[in-house]
Amino acid sequence: MSDHDVVIVGAGPVGLLLACLLAQEGIDVVVCERRLDVDDRSRAIGIHPPGLQTLDAVGLGERARAQGLQLDGGEVLCDGRTLASLDFPPARRVLILPQDRTDALLRGRLAELSGDALRRGHTVRGIRPDDDRVHLTVAVDDASGPDMVSAQRELTASVVVAADGVRSGIRDSLGIGWRARAGTARYLMIDVPDASGGARAQLHCAPGGLVESFPLPGGRRRWVALDGREERDRSAPAAEMFRDAIRARTGITPDIPDGERPVAFRARQHLAARTVQGRVILLGDAAHEVSPIGGQGMNLGWSDALRVASAIDRMLRGGRADLRGIEGRTRRAASAAQRRSRFYMSMGRPSHGLPLHARNAVIRVLGLAPLRGSAAGLITMRGI
Ligand SMILES: Cc1cc2nc3c(=O)[nH]c(=O)nc-3n(C[C@H](O)[C@H](O)[C@H](O)COP(=O)(O)OP(=O)(O)OC[C@H]3O[C@@H](n4cnc5c(N)ncnc54)[C@H](O)[C@@H]3O)c2cc1C
Repeated sequence: MSDHDVVIVGAGPVGLLLACLLAQEGIDVVVCERRLDVDDRSRAIGIHPPGLQTLDAVGLGERARAQGLQLDGGEVLCDGRTLASLDFPPARRVLILPQDRTDALLRGRLAELSGDALRRGHTVRGIRPDDDRVHLTVAVDDASGPDMVSAQRELTASVVVAADGVRSGIRDSLGIGWRARAGTARYLMIDVPDASGGARAQLHCAPGGLVESFPLPGGRRRWVALDGREERDRSAPAAEMFRDAIRARTGITPDIPDGERPVAFRARQHLAARTVQGRVILLGDAAHEVSPIGGQGMNLGWSDALRVASAIDRMLRGGRADLRGIEGRTRRAASAAQRRSRFYMSMGRPSHGLPLHARNAVIRVLGLAPLRGSAAGLITMRGI
């Protein structure tokens, strides 16, 4: 007999979504999250149609739509000229909602479904699977008194889901390989107030490198630019330097307040060698890292979570769950998303002369009427 049916390690958006799916089926689920505070970084902003379907499945679709901004399309530009203009049909619009707000919605929904499921300050330090359950060693931090107190506790679960992010300690403990896939580059990003309005994205595939600009809800805008600087110059640049770099590539001077600094991130792609090992399942970024260019990682993790939730439900009811089949689907979907992100990144590399003309020709062809629908489908994660 286990302490819980399911323990999920990690309360990021993917662990939380899975917890909601399981809790609403009446499954006894606990989420161990090492942080005592809330992660307020706004990483993911794009919720694609498959992601929105998963939010609908836990009763959050309407709340997310009410807080987010519907992106109805965007332009791909080079040197101020529009190469392609894509409109998303109403059923395939991308919802823009910063990840800290999505996470807050998911935490709220989980609290409605199962008040004590989320255990903050619970760091999983060890895992030992055996035939009929999985043993976890958990360090429990308590900051309610004047001093932080830590205690060690043992927990058992019939199934453990590791949704503990890209640097998954569970994946390492189980000795599961983490294989690098093509597609890496460094970017700078900032979210700033913006009075220009609108509900369209601009992707500048400039000779000097990619610049992306996305409207955010609440009168804000995200700017992302390929970081073309030498390794030795790579401290976070001041607002003025970032503004100048964007102006040089796009001719647009973004409204970035002095004193604000962009954050740097490196896009990488990896795939776990296995996503199922006995009664332990890797999910979300612990299973696959997809470049943020294209905004697919969280959405992909949510689609995996839908499949994993129904398999766990079947397993716990004594039925046969096709975990190998689920692993195959997860890996195929991740590979497809990684190929798409690699393509988007290649469209945003610095380029000049003939290679730039050839690239612009490819983008123009994708924007022609017969291919426009397929290109919009590609960007909005159709088929993944
Ligand atoms: C700049 C940027 C932009 C992005 N934009 C998009 C986008 O627009 N759309 C999109 O779909 N994706 C996007 N992504 C990707 C998205 O942010 C991730 O795919 C998503 O956060 C993965 O969620 P997760 O729950 O798997 O992992 P995480 O969000 O990393 O959460 C893992 C959690 O596990 C906890 N944890 C770790 N170890 C332990 C432990 N031992 N015990 C207990 N808890 C533990 C961590 O504290 C954390 O809370 C973007 C990423 C970046 C960096």
